[in-house]
Amino acid sequence: MHFFTYKNNKFYAEAVSIEKIAKEVGTPCYIYSHKTLTRHYAAFDEAFKDVPHLICYSVKANSNIAVLNTFIKAGGGVDIVSGGELFRALKAGANPKKIVYSGVGKREDEIEYALKTGILMFNVESPEELRAINKIAGRLKKKANFAIRVNPNVDPKTHPYISTGLKKNKFGIETEQAIQEYVYAKNNLKNLIPIGVDCHIGSQLTQLSPFVDALRKTKEIILTLRSEGVEVKYLDMGGGLGITYENEDAPHPSKYGKAVIDATRGLDVTLIFEPGRVMVGNAGILVAKVLYTKQGTEKNFIIVDAAMNDLARPSLYGSYHAIKAVTKKSAKEIVADVVGPICESGDFFAKDRELPPFKSGDLMAIMSAGAYGFSMSSNYNSRPRAAEVMIKGNKFTIIRERESYKDLTKGEKIPKDRQ
Ligand SMILES: *Cc1c(COP(=O)(O)O)cnc(C)c1O
Repeated sequence: MHFFTYKNNKFYAEAVSIEKIAKEVGTPCYIYSHKTLTRHYAAFDEAFKDVPHLICYSVKANSNIAVLNTFIKAGGGVDIVSGGELFRALKAGANPKKIVYSGVGKREDEIEYALKTGILMFNVESPEELRAINKIAGRLKKKANFAIRVNPNVDPKTHPYISTGLKKNKFGIETEQAIQEYVYAKNNLKNLIPIGVDCHIGSQLTQLSPFVDALRKTKEIILTLRSEGVEVKYLDMGGGLGITYENEDAPHPSKYGKAVIDATRGLDVTLIFEPGRVMVGNAGILVAKVLYTKQGTEKNFIIVDAAMNDLARPSLYGSYHAIKAVTKKSAKEIVADVVGPICESGDFFAKDRELPPFKSGDLMAIMSAGAYGFSMSSNYNSRPRAAEVMIKGNKFTIIRERESYKDLTKGEKIPKDRQ
């Protein structure tokens, strides 16, 4: 459910015309609907209202501080994967006691930053990391709360690049070893406090059964740990709930909630969630302008001013994003590829797609671009990053200015010639 709709053949974000935003802000630009963000948060929260829970929005899905602040104001925490994300989260007003820190390669300075901040817990992904956190905590005279990210060896049935809970994936620690590590930490790593068990099996999951399988395994781990005298207060389920991009039948958070609550009944834990995509995916669009069209003998091309540096998902995963005309067209649809200006054949937004007959100067909305859109963007081909705009009712705010050419060379230097 989102608030991007047509009114009299013109496309709107809430009560603001996209055409108007494009005129004032330029293209390409990302547009996020505040009402959609808060609705998504509320739907997720509602699904777990009967059990103790904490929603830690996954910052990497969309890291703009205005987006983070929206969820923080709604009562949420955050899931971070770097020192940079911790910085953003704090800037957005996050409560340190609601921050969980995931990721396979936390650096010493990042661990130190998180310890000084006093975050809720580290989700630890290797035995060496566990020892490193213990050592750094000792040096800082602090205690570090942790959960181990267990790798339950469950197939999430999603794109291989975003599948994370299989033995062949780099994430987490396998069950047996994880249990040994908890016991080892309890007896030997005195600056650590085990408080939870964590599990994140992948992204864009459109079935509930992999979540339930992972929960079943996680529940067993928690019971084993308790029998070993390790206290477990939190069960962190990670993120991963999918959304509808094309015609996927993604489960509503209420269904996901019911399945999770059923599978964890009687466990006496506070549930932590790290949803990313389901919070922001359909709350954002990328607006591009058509530069040129051209007809080859085999294909029609629509060349737009947005590119793979703005939205990498189609080139990275072959993902589908719906495309809409900002001003509806009555003429017959054509079949075309939508491509960007970048010098790569992977620079496309759609292939052999039935589309309105776009002409030079037309605006298009690339839908479901709120998650892993701007946050994955780059300056490839020395393209300044797009502006980001947030809509709230009939008002809009530029929440990140379009980058300038000067931004592109920030920090660069030509070495001096020395004799
Ligand atoms: C990416 C990530 C998430 C968010 O995943 P979504 O599929 O966007 O919900 C949550 N937790 C961890 C550890 C992640 O790496």
